[in-house]
Amino acid sequence: AEAQLRQSQKMEAVGQLTGGIAHDFNNLLQGITGNLEIVERRVAQGRTEELDRFVTAAATAANRAASLTHRLLAFSRRQPLDPKPVEVNRLIGSIEDLLRRTIGERIALDLHLDADLWPTRCDPNQLESAILNLAINARDAMEGGGRLTIETGNVTRENSAFVCIRVGDTGTGMDADTIARAFEPFFTTKPIGRGTGLGLSMIYGFAKQSEGTATIESAPGEGTSVRLYLPRHDGPMDEAGEAPAAAPVPLS
Ligand code: ADP
Repeated sequence: AEAQLRQSQKMEAVGQLTGGIAHDFNNLLQGITGNLEIVERRVAQGRTEELDRFVTAAATAANRAASLTHRLLAFSRRQPLDPKPVEVNRLIGSIEDLLRRTIGERIALDLHLDADLWPTRCDPNQLESAILNLAINARDAMEGGGRLTIETGNVTRENSAFVCIRVGDTGTGMDADTIARAFEPFFTTKPIGRGTGLGLSMIYGFAKQSEGTATIESAPGEGTSVRLYLPRHDGPMDEAGEAPAAAPVPLS
């Protein structure tokens, strides 16, 4: 019975996914065909001046449609996790330039990286895209500019050791209803073609699958902090290219 329930929940999720795609894609297509029809009519009437506006609008909708399909494809064929030991500070350092370019000049970037940070174990590519996604959400919440803070630290919760990554902004913040729904797939408050509502749900899934978790703290008008908790890795570092901080655990 439990397996059946899970199966029907899955089918419901697939139904929601398909409905969401169809709806957003249709809106974008209307933005393309509607503008192209105007272009056709004006060309037929010999009114070829002032066509730029409609062509640009059609191209914008086409770009958003392409980006929507790209993100949905990435979601549907989510790669299996490939967990390995990760030095989070170093990973953040490696995307610092990309982060600055992503948030633009009106948003300041503050890094508070704990020099004694434990290594963690997770899929580094997924962690990188999680942090980038959080930075994009922060940027979208700070249209007038602001401050993006990325902070790392060691945390022990309920006898388990975690590396905590906080991504904080000084943006619009979220009300209680938005916080409650933010991790749901397809929940978005952004206009069509801008948000898929998949970012935070993917981040939450990544954290859970990595045997950690994610939390949101937010207040309207004050800003938002999303925290990722990823498990401490103990044992030798492989592949990360760094000597183990402690002696390798002896094989018993
Ligand atoms: P999307 O960004 O595509 O809407 P997400 O799952 O990343 O999807 O976010 C869901 C919703 O949560 C957003 O539409 C927005 O309302 C809210 N949200 C996420 N991050 C922030 C943030 N940093 N500040 C304010 N609201 C946010």
